[in-house]
Amino acid sequence: MEIFFAGTGTSHGVPVIGCTCPVCTSETAEDKRTRSSIFVKGSGGTSIVIDTGPDFREQALRAKLNKLDAVLYTHSHADHLHGIDDLRIFSHKSRCCKTNEKPLHIYSNAKTLNDIQVRFDYIFSPVKEGGGKPYLELIDASIFSTEHPLCIAELEIIPVPLLHGHSEVYGWKISEKVSVDKTYSLAYLTDCNFISEQSIELVRGADILVIDALRKRPHSTHLNFEESIVYAQKIGAKRSFFTHICHDFSHSQIKAFLASHTDGSLNIEPAYDGLVLNTPCAP
Ligand SMILES: [Zn+2]
Ligand SMILES: [Zn+2]
Ligand SMILES: [Zn+2]
Repeated sequence: MEIFFAGTGTSHGVPVIGCTCPVCTSETAEDKRTRSSIFVKGSGGTSIVIDTGPDFREQALRAKLNKLDAVLYTHSHADHLHGIDDLRIFSHKSRCCKTNEKPLHIYSNAKTLNDIQVRFDYIFSPVKEGGGKPYLELIDASIFSTEHPLCIAELEIIPVPLLHGHSEVYGWKISEKVSVDKTYSLAYLTDCNFISEQSIELVRGADILVIDALRKRPHSTHLNFEESIVYAQKIGAKRSFFTHICHDFSHSQIKAFLASHTDGSLNIEPAYDGLVLNTPCAP
């Protein structure tokens, strides 16, 4: 399984428009954070994207994304959704000829799917044809669970319910079996300020945890650094990464913060745009 950190920034992105702070004016590549998204490729080539924010086009070009089997949405905030129109190219690819029409599958909870239909109504309206819109099928993922996961070729996927302020949103767990007794898993928990015991149980011991960590100061709908560390300790992943990071701290300052606030055993670091992780592939 290959994990590509397409974007690791908060809703404004970093640099923030008009901001002249040291992080926004930093020349360091790791300090440039596009809106949060992650791309996952299974060892058999199955390609999944979590969230399509306003930077999706640039992220897809950077990743050389040329195939997409499904999109998982965490929630409908603009910074996670508003690149949806650029899925056109992938739904066109999936319906290579009229006799084999196949929509691109979109998974989330009912609230998010409803928001997509309302906000991007032209996509689902029969009146405007002509190749100018994506061809999507919305699927409520609440039917999937550890016992009955969503299976897309070699990947197994379950939603992980989270609270993001008053909103019920999804994190996602994506797993791939690599041998009879070993499964590799990614837990992607962006945009949240509360993770229930049941949801912690769903992702406990994941190989890779990616977790919301907006900034050091508290926030009403996002985890701050110290809260993220506490959750990361509870979840106990082999490696953990901060994402959805704002412009308060540079990449190197976050690394220094983590070095002084955790012991090495937690294995936690800030993610950055363009980071690629490869978990061992199936034999
Ligand atoms: Zn967000
Ligand atoms: Zn700034
Ligand atoms: Zn959000």
